[in-house]
Amino acid sequence: MAQSRPVEAAEKAPDELDAVIVGAGFAGLYMLHRLHGLGLTARVFEAGNGVGGTWFWNRYPGARVDIESQEYSFSFSEDLEMDWEWTERYAPQPELLAYANHVADRFSLRSDIHLNTRVVSAIFDEAADRWAVTTDQGQVVSARYCIMATGCLSAAKQPDVPGAGQFRGETYSTAAWPEGGVDFTGKKVAIIGTGSSGVQTITTIAPQVGELTVFQRTPNFSVPAHNGPIDPDVAADWKANRETYRQMERESGIGIMALDPSEALALETSREDRERVFEERWARGGFCVATAFADIGADLDANNLAVDFIARKIRSIVRNPDVAERLIPKTYPFASKRICVDTGYFEVYNRDNISLVDLNETPIETITPAGIRTRDRDHAFDAIIFAIGFDAMTGALDRIDIRGRGGLRLKDKWAEGPLTYLGLMVAGFPNLFTITGPGSPSVLSNMIVSIEQHADFIADCIDHLASRQFSVIEPTPAAEKEWVTHVNELAAGTLYMQANSWYLGANIPGKPRVFMPYPGGVGVYRERCEAVVANGYEGFALTGASTAV
Ligand code: FAD
Ligand code: NAP
Repeated sequence: MAQSRPVEAAEKAPDELDAVIVGAGFAGLYMLHRLHGLGLTARVFEAGNGVGGTWFWNRYPGARVDIESQEYSFSFSEDLEMDWEWTERYAPQPELLAYANHVADRFSLRSDIHLNTRVVSAIFDEAADRWAVTTDQGQVVSARYCIMATGCLSAAKQPDVPGAGQFRGETYSTAAWPEGGVDFTGKKVAIIGTGSSGVQTITTIAPQVGELTVFQRTPNFSVPAHNGPIDPDVAADWKANRETYRQMERESGIGIMALDPSEALALETSREDRERVFEERWARGGFCVATAFADIGADLDANNLAVDFIARKIRSIVRNPDVAERLIPKTYPFASKRICVDTGYFEVYNRDNISLVDLNETPIETITPAGIRTRDRDHAFDAIIFAIGFDAMTGALDRIDIRGRGGLRLKDKWAEGPLTYLGLMVAGFPNLFTITGPGSPSVLSNMIVSIEQHADFIADCIDHLASRQFSVIEPTPAAEKEWVTHVNELAAGTLYMQANSWYLGANIPGKPRVFMPYPGGVGVYRERCEAVVANGYEGFALTGASTAV
């Protein structure tokens, strides 16, 4: 990797940059660090007034990671990993936000990060082979490379419930929770949505509120986290063996060691042994329940055995049998949507101050000034919380006016679903990179593992271009088409296709139904990327001559 700053960089006007990075979550932070290492001039624009991305915005009560803390952290710096001490098995949002800030300080990133600045457009200038990036603060910068670190889950879904603006009480979104928190003591609170954000919020506020009413459209599978203070032996073992464990993560299916995937088949295991395995994994906690048997994700009959196990768990926890039945997912396979990892979720339904409204029976007709009107009655509330999810994978990119060759808008190119090569680049949009873009493992992985791999690929690619005097890289349309076909074929053989999930864009009215992440696993994907590089950036066209990177 080139370490010296090009002479041209120091002489450039401030608005002429080598690279613009959009977003200062973990992806933007690590990308900037890598570009600093190459000696490039780079600027990060971040819409929020702090770094941390997901963990800056989603400050709702109970927000925490669903992957064990030491795994959901950067691996690129041994010193960082050895110095940082996680306090809980599943780190809470404040700790993750502190970690992001520590990374920004430790690696001297702040001076190149412009906060409170939203990028509104990125237009490719074909004559200059540069991107003109405009912000809502009126800044226009010119950059050779434009790197979208805008996040897969950063564009919050807007309330699509009739009358949403009418409510006179307090309204909150889990995806933009107020700094300093909210005191719900004694209040009548409604929450709409029972995905991971809803589950964590419900579990945490139920003991605090006066009354809590949960408006549930689709129940989610949830497994216990068994969270608590981090086991010092686990933390010490991780640090002692970090290189081995990190390598195993990189070569694995979804970048999580604790997943411990079994090769045994549920359908070929006796009922007694199956039960023992499920119980052991339920006691261990986290996603490993989904990998208790190799056929759970591939065979509906095997999957149903897992569904049956979890349904019995829910019935054993929730005392009211009617409520228990409503909390059991029955319309899609286990793990075909992101599983929730909870800390006493089903248990809260045994409290006297919580009630569950099943929207399949009594849909919301409208939000009223006083509360929520369902088909059967009016409910009055002091506060309504929306935990209704995100316009995932493409939403943050769609909200920027991105135009490539010939003025083609990315949004138009993606009208029938996102088209990318490796989830990293788009044909017709030269020098525009997407970190964890659609078509890459992204949300089907430990995101930090995927973020590091993408940022490394991009930095190494830019360095390669500079050293070979190329100024432009873009995928060929043929390579893009082949990749999209490959991703679709892989997805077609999975149970993911049987759920109305945000993986498929099914949660956003009018969004094309296309499976967006790459389901082949982070290890296989990494090998593919490495082969592409080894074959001289196979599938990409490298053109132009430039000495200024
Ligand atoms: P983000 O953290 O989303 O950061 C993107 C940033 O870009 C944001 O700060 C946003 O403001 C900014 N931005 C977007 N558009 C613009 C624009 N036009 N101009 C300027 N700035 C812009 N993943 C896991 O692997 N494990 C987990 O346990 C996990 N838990 C999660 C919990 C929640 C509540 C959510 C919402 C997501 C979770 N994820 C989890 C996914 C999580 O998003 C990633 O793990 C990771 O934090 C993504 O980092 P990022 O930098 O790619 O994106
Ligand atoms: P989500 O999984 O999309 O859940 C949104 C919920 O809102 C669903 O229950 C949905 O019901 C409901 N909903 C949406 N619109 C509605 C409407 N108009 N009326 C009634 N209900 C409505 O979103 P999320 O909970 O924010 O989670 C998104 C992803 O972020 C997760 O899958 C995960 O990857 C990540 N995340 C992780 C954690 C963690 O544990 N670390 C925490 C939060 C988020 P339907 O299902 O019927 O549409």
